[in-house]
Amino acid sequence: MTFEQFNLHADITAAVVEQGYTSPTPIQEQSIPHIMHGRDVLGLAQTGTGKTAAFVLPLLHGLMRGPRRRVRALILAPTRELAIQIHESLRALGQNTRFHSAVIIGGVSMDAQVNAIRRGAEIIVACPGRLLDHLSRKNIDLSTLETLVIDEADRMFDMGFLPDIRRIVRLLPGKRQNLLFSATMPDDIRRLSTEVLHDAVTVQINHTRPLETISHSLYSVEQHLKTALLKELLKCTKTDSVLVFTRTKHRAKKLAQQLDQSGFSAASLQGNLSQNQRQQAIEGFRDGSYKILVATDIAARGIDVSAITHVINYDMPDTADAYTHRIGRTGRVSRTGEAFTFVTSEDTSMAYTIECILGDALEHKTLPGFDYDRPRTVGPVQAMSPGRSRQHRTSPAAQPARERQQRPGDRYRIQVPSR
Ligand code: AMP
Repeated sequence: MTFEQFNLHADITAAVVEQGYTSPTPIQEQSIPHIMHGRDVLGLAQTGTGKTAAFVLPLLHGLMRGPRRRVRALILAPTRELAIQIHESLRALGQNTRFHSAVIIGGVSMDAQVNAIRRGAEIIVACPGRLLDHLSRKNIDLSTLETLVIDEADRMFDMGFLPDIRRIVRLLPGKRQNLLFSATMPDDIRRLSTEVLHDAVTVQINHTRPLETISHSLYSVEQHLKTALLKELLKCTKTDSVLVFTRTKHRAKKLAQQLDQSGFSAASLQGNLSQNQRQQAIEGFRDGSYKILVATDIAARGIDVSAITHVINYDMPDTADAYTHRIGRTGRVSRTGEAFTFVTSEDTSMAYTIECILGDALEHKTLPGFDYDRPRTVGPVQAMSPGRSRQHRTSPAAQPARERQQRPGDRYRIQVPSR
């Protein structure tokens, strides 16, 4: 299929060509015609499948007819980074349309946002909290809204935004087109979709399975050896851009510093950074100034760096969905990528769940030559474990029973269920 077959407005098709998109991705192929026909759409697609353009293109097409200089479309996104990324897509794909879009996110001045709205933005891309702030101050008039897009709805739910979304939806005109995108469909999102969508077409792409262009490996390692293993892996693996995930902001910052001190070009992306610092980290990663970005799940949401070759789960994600989201950062649109996940004895049940999702696609690996038996040493912390243990033990007798059962070097075996 080609983009011409959609019969999008010529100005929009020209921008698609300029972006270098030659053919639509499956989510685009399946959802664009329905959206152009005015249907509500429930899109089940992971990040990296081209889902932003799947709603941006028909949205722009629909806006080409009708009045200007009033708010006609609202796109809700869970994080600032994703909102900015959607705004950039709107700019790129709408470059010939003269539409204005305003980004409404926290962490930056409200005044500039009010100015952007007053200049006549037809499209608002917003995070729910800041949008509600503006709405309560009557800075935005949504009475002329025609289309609502809720992007990454499952992440909105994870971040506790569903009450805010419901509050926003109640303020919108009843007659409107609704598009809801989510990588997964937990019950709460199913409920939200029945409240928001009317007679919706469901488009499902690769539900909950990470992209198939990615190879997945698990490395069993004790907590205190993770940083050493990471450095060794980085030394002996051919990588371009590496995204490393940690569980906490503190750990992301500390690990990036440790990598930097060891001669790797690394930055962190975590919630304690100002909006400017975050943008700097993302830009530096995108333009190759940093080869490694160490991030938390929330901060990494919405990073659109198409050349990420490796995702490394330094800390195991909390849910299988989080695994899917993290891994969706590599292997984007037909590129291949590798995902490495460190598994400690505390992570076995999560590793099992991931194994169930991935089946044969998963490999258990050990790094040849790496000393998995190295004991925990007294002195500088080699791997951080805030909130857990800050003690450094040398004697096995001092270790709790759970740790002793999992002796250093023991390789974690995941039981594969019969399929
Ligand atoms: P998304 O899933 O929206 O985050 O998109 C992932 C990446 O795919 C972005 O870098 C897009 O610019 C790119 N992309 C979207 N649609 C296409 C397409 N039809 N052909 C090639 N790249 C695309």
